[in-house]
Order: sequence, then structure tokens, then C-alpha cells
Amino acid sequence: MNSNMNSNCKHPRIRVVARDEDEDIEYVECLECGEVFDSDEFRDMAIEEATKKDES
Ligand SMILES: [Zn+2]
Repeated sequence: MNSNMNSNCKHPRIRVVARDEDEDIEYVECLECGEVFDSDEFRDMAIEEATKKDES
């Protein structure tokens, strides 16, 4: 994985670009850095952030 360029992006603004009805997955795109990921992944990231905040 080579995501140095995006390492500082917290993906504050996203939009849904596609949806897989069968798998119930939404694909979202970050409007800041243009990275595309599925919403489950984004949720994991958000939870990770919340956990970090909680710990510190
Ligand atoms: Zn981003």
C-alpha cells in the first residue's frame, strides 16, 4: 500500500459513488483526496479515530 500522499487526510467530506445491493456495501469517495473506499472501511477508520481520542 502506498498512501503517503493521503496519510494526513481524515476524509472529512465524502460522497457515495456506488452501491452493491447484493453485498450491501456502499462505495464512498473522499472529496478532499479523491480516495475511494467502502463505507465499512470508512466506519472502521472513524471508530479508530474515536478510540484514539478516548484513550488520550
Ligand atoms: Zn481523504
